[in-house]
Amino acid sequence: MSEAEKLYEGKAKIIYPTAEPEVLLTYFKDDATAFNAQKRGTIAGKGAINCTISSKIFQRLEREGIPTHFIDQPEPNQMRVRRVTIVPVEVVVRNIAAGSLCKQTGLPPGKELKPPLVEFFYKNDALGDPLLTIERLLVMELATKEQVEQLRDMALRINELLKGIFHECGITLVDFKLEFGIDSDGKLLLADEISPDTCRLWDEAEADPQKRVMDKDRFRLDLGQVEAAYERVLERILGGNIVT
Ligand code: UDP
Repeated sequence: MSEAEKLYEGKAKIIYPTAEPEVLLTYFKDDATAFNAQKRGTIAGKGAINCTISSKIFQRLEREGIPTHFIDQPEPNQMRVRRVTIVPVEVVVRNIAAGSLCKQTGLPPGKELKPPLVEFFYKNDALGDPLLTIERLLVMELATKEQVEQLRDMALRINELLKGIFHECGITLVDFKLEFGIDSDGKLLLADEISPDTCRLWDEAEADPQKRVMDKDRFRLDLGQVEAAYERVLERILGGNIVT
């Protein structure tokens, strides 16, 4: 795959066209960024790990009735996906307060959020992915009212499924970010990835607030053992046989 063929290159993935117009090939990189790309690094093996975790989770979600862009995983770090137009809204679901929520609201980290909190962010690096209100989202014509309801409903349903999947693996799902796309038939599909880059995941068996972190916070907060944590999530997902 040559540079010239690239359709798009983001912070963690490169997207290539394929011979089939409705099918794209996503290549997962080992590159890691945080804080709107102000912090950069590499997590060895991350591409293959995140691609495999995402593939398994997408397959399980499909089986549970969630439409996703996933087709198959031809190589450990490559995923074939349905071509979609990405909705420029990041949908974050939170079960436990952490990260930007605590920074912006003063809520104590670790506070349980019942019911889960759904938030929408504008997917725009130049603007720093700002938090949106529904009214702003509608004024900006990022989605229709019906689509916003659909995004919220799907995100909450996915949260219930993901909480269960991770719990089967001994992992607490703290929060996560989803992206959605619209295919050529106008259908809303879950897209992007679901991995330790996009979720906060805590080891249920570990009470220590630093040791329990199994996600990108290890990189963001310089907690060390980043690769090992990602590998442990992969091992648990594979060991948990979440697709069979
Ligand atoms: N997240 C993400 N990409 C982003 C921003 C957030 O995948 O561009 C994920 C992040 O890993 C966490 C959740 O969304 O699981 C909530 O992130 P938060 O808003 O707390 O932002 P952060 O503290 O990560 O900057």
